[in-house]
Amino acid sequence: MRLNDPSLLRVDSYVDGNWLAGKRRFAVTNPATGEVIANVADLGPAEVTAAIDAAVTAQREWSKRTAKDRAMIMRMWYDLVMANAEDLAVILTTEMGKPLAEAKGEVAYGASFIDWFAEEARRVCGDVLETPQADKRLLTLKQPIGVFGAITPWNFPIAMITRKVAPGIAAGCACVLKPAEQTPLSALALAELAERAGLPSGVMNIVTGMNAPAIGQTLCDDNRIRKMTFTGSTEVGRILMRQSAGSVKKMSLELGGNAPLLVFDDADLDKAVTGAMMSKFRNAGQTCVCANRIFVQDKIYDAFAKQLAEATKALQVGNGLTEGVEQGPIIDNQGLAKIERHVEDAIGKGANLLTGGKPHALGGTFFEPTVLTEMTSDMQLFREETFGPVAALFKFSDEEDAIAMANDSEFGLAAYLFTENAARLFRVSEALEFGIVAVNTGIFSSEVGPFGGLKNSGLGREGSKYGIDEFLEIKFVCVGI
Ligand code: ADP
Repeated sequence: MRLNDPSLLRVDSYVDGNWLAGKRRFAVTNPATGEVIANVADLGPAEVTAAIDAAVTAQREWSKRTAKDRAMIMRMWYDLVMANAEDLAVILTTEMGKPLAEAKGEVAYGASFIDWFAEEARRVCGDVLETPQADKRLLTLKQPIGVFGAITPWNFPIAMITRKVAPGIAAGCACVLKPAEQTPLSALALAELAERAGLPSGVMNIVTGMNAPAIGQTLCDDNRIRKMTFTGSTEVGRILMRQSAGSVKKMSLELGGNAPLLVFDDADLDKAVTGAMMSKFRNAGQTCVCANRIFVQDKIYDAFAKQLAEATKALQVGNGLTEGVEQGPIIDNQGLAKIERHVEDAIGKGANLLTGGKPHALGGTFFEPTVLTEMTSDMQLFREETFGPVAALFKFSDEEDAIAMANDSEFGLAAYLFTENAARLFRVSEALEFGIVAVNTGIFSSEVGPFGGLKNSGLGREGSKYGIDEFLEIKFVCVGI
């Protein structure tokens, strides 16, 4: 890996301000080439408990600092992340596969949470309440929840960390974070930069390891961890919630999605195709907000399908580090197998293949950008998130039917709709049972908008002015005078 600053490539865990080698190592591979890039510390429960000890001690001091003091360190961290954006993007693409341009976008997006929550730290305010009794005075204090555990996925190796850690440390909490085993190097590079920024030892601990269930259990079982924040599958989210029941932890869960994208007859066709391409093929379809089910109204259906297929055929597939590549590899063989299963199932049940549909000639885990039409609700893709570059088109004629089909899912994270009719825009946005509705655009994420889902897509909101509340307790103080 060619980096301007090779010392950003850390391979040991970061616990209490020390780089911890652990007793074992595990291999991290480049999904574009299959090559081993690094052998990373493989920690077990005893080391995770030591990290919790460090976080508990560090949090006492950290929470006593002024918000401005915490914000200044965070601002320095932000500056360092941006100054090292090139290297961070190379590390990210090498371990995860997404095109370098997307990786650079993720670094800036990830950094924006550090900047934003450094500012929000200074705007945490309690209240003085109007008293119902003349001899009492009533106040609320907002205080950090304490030490939190965080578990993050591989598809956004930087942004999913900063979106959790930044509001937490801004609020005066400390954390023990386990990054995905596929992408620990981005997490460790972030820790290196946090250390350079002056973040005190123990405030952010990064524990790497292969045995995710054991690490997760250790975090959930520990009474001193007062909150768990997780992004990943609904299945693992449920496990963490169950395991956290014993110590009644506060939970933030960003789980699976099955995003519908609705294109109405009155949509601007070019805008709809561009939006669908961005939503569907970003990160090779491996995001929890990628359009999974594309519902198109009958009059515009054929034109939309033709234009989408042309744009899909033009996508450049290859190693994310190669200039001009727009779609990298799928993260691993398991991910690839699910995509193949969904496509085979759909074709077997009558779907029509407009382009793609099979593993790419490049081999490995590359998959052809694919468009399927004539999709129906009995196909696996309708119920399950494909997490791959497969655009699946369903036809509808009636607005109410489209809304009913879109809502016919256990998930409720993001939905998209394309229409130029203002009344429909409001009517459909209100009817969709999703935490996020994007209208006439395929991209909505920023540090300013609240990100989170309904139903089995999770609990809580990340980013935005609401994000810091997830890490604060409200204490009521009643003073007799
Ligand atoms: P994905 O299928 O996208 O990899 P997962 O939910 O399996 O999603 O993984 C998200 C994160 O959860 C990763 O960091 C992974 O190591 C971790 N993880 C997986 N299984 C467990 C578990 N039983 N307990 C705690 N963490 C887990």
